[in-house]
Amino acid sequence: MAKILAVNAGSSSLKFQLLNMPEEDVIASGLVERIGFEDAVFNIEFRDQERSETVHIPDHAVAVQMLLEVLVDLQIVKSLEDIVGVGHRVVHGGEKFSDSVKITDEVLKTIEELKDLAPLHNPANATGIRAFEKVLPKVEQVAVFDTAFHQTMPKESYMYASPYDWYEKYGVRRYGFHGTSHKYVAERTAQLINKSLEDTKIITVHIGNGGSLAAVDGGKSVNTSMGFTPLAGLVMGTRTGDIDPSILPFVMEKENMNIDEAISALNKESGLEGVSGISSDMRDIDKGKSEDNERAELAFDLFVKRVVDYIAAYYVELGGADAIVFTAGIGENDIEVRKAVMSRLAVLGIKINEEANNTRGQEIKISTDDSKIQVWVVPTNEEVMIARDTLRLIK
Ligand code: AMP
Repeated sequence: MAKILAVNAGSSSLKFQLLNMPEEDVIASGLVERIGFEDAVFNIEFRDQERSETVHIPDHAVAVQMLLEVLVDLQIVKSLEDIVGVGHRVVHGGEKFSDSVKITDEVLKTIEELKDLAPLHNPANATGIRAFEKVLPKVEQVAVFDTAFHQTMPKESYMYASPYDWYEKYGVRRYGFHGTSHKYVAERTAQLINKSLEDTKIITVHIGNGGSLAAVDGGKSVNTSMGFTPLAGLVMGTRTGDIDPSILPFVMEKENMNIDEAISALNKESGLEGVSGISSDMRDIDKGKSEDNERAELAFDLFVKRVVDYIAAYYVELGGADAIVFTAGIGENDIEVRKAVMSRLAVLGIKINEEANNTRGQEIKISTDDSKIQVWVVPTNEEVMIARDTLRLIK
């Protein structure tokens, strides 16, 4: 049985899952946080047990070394030879990668060169890859890009109407993100509605702390709501989503802000939190709404309206839809948001099954049998996609 590690490396963190493939059973999962600090935290869950340790972990290579020792010590693997591949989530693949790839020196160099497009993420992802190269030099590694799934978008979806040479010189275009999640739920939904992926039109609604939609035609992304960066599109936990860019210089002048402060306000002080003044967490917004807090109601309505606007646009773009699928923290769990979105879509012939919608975190159809479009909840599983691609590419 092949064991594969699915890894998501951040600048000071390392999230991992060890899976038995092709069975897709999760054997262990965990998170190392505060790498580089004296009080880093190493956490692992396996066979209904959990272990947590606070230790000094100076860098990612030490975190990887520690992870591997723990896997052997706890007899989660017999020896390190059991691990046949490591798959890494990499945020930005630019226009270079339209699929996952085996990591070579050349690929790693390209991932690092793309740091211009994802300064917070790609360098951290590359650090994770180098750490595994150092500790497990013989094991093959694969990069799975957040942007790759959306590389099938036609030019009219990905181009902005800005000066054309911004695209040619600097790659200014829509890339889209959450691709691994959109791909997973689209593929899973095709199975659930008993159609071959090639014959389906599916609108995938990934709404968590960050959020995006995708229009998926025959298994291929033809449009998505995030753009050049993950700031575009939906109203998110702390992000504005789409706004008129002229607001920036206007507010910068009024508030005497520099560009970094202004961009930070759009990314970190806006969205549900900025509008409600309460919280970026939809659970708190729901609570505020139930207490008739007007700004919580407004934040909720703005959030829902934007999701509905995109669904309507993609419905037209796809020429209809077989299914709409909700995923991620809010999509999987928030009964009120799903209900509000679906009731605003009644004009498309969508009918909600209230009882089915009254569930959280489950794979379930939440539309009635006579609804014109099937609506589903499908919990996302990016780790499984990473492990699948890793297995496919190292074979
Ligand atoms: P994610 O980024 O996918 O982890 O999603 C995180 C968001 O999901 C949180 O900020 C919450 O707003 C939302 N969320 C998580 N659990 C629930 C729940 N039980 N009910 C409503 N919203 C939830």
